[in-house]
Amino acid sequence: MSHVFPRHTKSELPVAAGGEGCYLIDSTGRRYLDCGDAAVSCLGHSNETVVKAVQQQVEQIAFAHTGFMTSEPAEALAELLIEHAPGDLDRVYFVSGGSEATEAAIKLARQYYLETGQPERRHVIARRQSYHGNTLGALSAGGNEWRRAQFAPMLIEMTHIAPCYEYAEKPEGESSYDYGQRVANELEAEILRLGPNTVMAFMAEPVVGATLGAVPAVEGYFKRIREICDQYGVLLILDEVMCGMGRTGHLFACDHDGVAPDILCIAKGLGAGYQPIGAMLCSARIYDAIQNGSGFFQHGHTYIGHPVATAAALAVVTELTQNDLPLRAALMGEKLQSALTTAFGQHPHVGDIRGRGLFRGIELVANRETKTPFDPALGVAGKIKKAAFAEGLICYPMSGTRDGQHGDHILLAPPFIIEGKQIDELVAKLDRAISNVI
Ligand code: PMP
Repeated sequence: MSHVFPRHTKSELPVAAGGEGCYLIDSTGRRYLDCGDAAVSCLGHSNETVVKAVQQQVEQIAFAHTGFMTSEPAEALAELLIEHAPGDLDRVYFVSGGSEATEAAIKLARQYYLETGQPERRHVIARRQSYHGNTLGALSAGGNEWRRAQFAPMLIEMTHIAPCYEYAEKPEGESSYDYGQRVANELEAEILRLGPNTVMAFMAEPVVGATLGAVPAVEGYFKRIREICDQYGVLLILDEVMCGMGRTGHLFACDHDGVAPDILCIAKGLGAGYQPIGAMLCSARIYDAIQNGSGFFQHGHTYIGHPVATAAALAVVTELTQNDLPLRAALMGEKLQSALTTAFGQHPHVGDIRGRGLFRGIELVANRETKTPFDPALGVAGKIKKAAFAEGLICYPMSGTRDGQHGDHILLAPPFIIEGKQIDELVAKLDRAISNVI
C-alpha cells in the first residue's frame, strides 16, 4: 500500500520509473506519450543538458539562503529572462511554482501602492472561469467556481469580469474585434464601480489554460486592457504560468498580443519539470518604488532563488532560446492543429479546436449546432482522461469550462521536441479514447 497522499484517494496509480523524450515509462515498462502533464514538460524527459546542469549544481552548492547570498545560476537566469522579456520588465523574483508566483504578484502590487502613497488601492480584478493557483490569495483571484466553492468563506474579496471566450460567449452577428473590445471594457466599468483609486491590479492569462482549454483572446482585446490599466493606474499582471516559456510559439505568450505587463508570472515550462521553480518578473518602476522606499519586499519563502532550481531553469531557458524551440512549438503546433482538424473537425461532439503553438484545446459539446455542453453529471472529460491513459496517452481533459460548471474540454500540451509521427500517435490514441466515451 502506498503511503503517499495522492490527488484522488480512491485510485491506485502506476509508478513513474523513467522517461525518454516525449514518453513517460512506468515500473512495468509501459510507455505513455506525455502530451499534457499540465504543460510542464516542454523539453521532454531525460534532457541530458538539463540533467547535467542539475548534477553540477548539486555538487557545487545546493542551497544558500537568499537572505544572505545570491548565486551564479540565479543571477544568470534573471539576466537571460530579462534579455528576452517584453516591455520594461527588469527584475526577477524566483519562487518554487505557479501559485507562489501569482501570490507574490498580488502582494507586490499591494506593496507598490503602499510605497507610492496610495494605500487605498487594494482591489484585484480578475476574470471568471480562470485559474491562478491553489493558495488562498491565488485561489481568490481565480474565477473557477468549482475550485473556489469549498474555500469560499476564507477567500479574499476580489471581483471578476467576463473572460474573452469567443467560441462560447460571442453573440452571432458581433465581429470578433467588437466582442473583444466590449468584454475588455468590462474592466473599465468594474474599475469605475469599485472606485478608480481603490483598484491596484488586473490579473489574466494571455491564453487561458486549465479552465477554458487553450483559449487565446481575440485581436485587440489585450491592447484595450493595457490602455484601461494605464488610464486608471492599475497594474497589469499577466499569468503565463501555463502558457509561457515558448509554449504558444513565442517565449512569452503576451508577445503575440503585442502588450507588456507590469508584472509577469511564469512557472511550469521554466523548470520543464527538472526542478520546481516559478518566477515573477516586474518592471523597473515597481522595483525602484520599493528600493527607494522601504527597500524590502515584505514577502518570501525559504526556497526562493534556490541554486539547483535556478541552475535547471537556466539550462532549460538556454535550450529554449539557443535552439529556437518556441519557433518549433509554433510550427509543430500548426501541424497538430491541422491533424486535429482532420480527425475531429466534423465530429458531432467537437465544437471547437483552438489554441496557439503547442497549446491546443478541443471543446466537447453535446450539440455542435447549438454549442450546448454535455450534462456535467456525465463526467465526459474525466472519462476521456481515463480512456486516453489506458491507451498510453497523457492529456489534460477538464470539466467546468462554462459558467455554472458545464462544459468539457481536452487540453493538449506536448513537449516542443514532438515529431510528426508522434503527433499521428497522439491523434490516433485520442480518437480511440474519445470514441470509447462519446
Ligand atoms: N496559474 C496558472 C495559469 C496555472 O495553470 C497554474 C497551474 N495549473 C497555476 C497558476 C498554479 O501553478 P502551481 O500548480 O505550480 O502552483
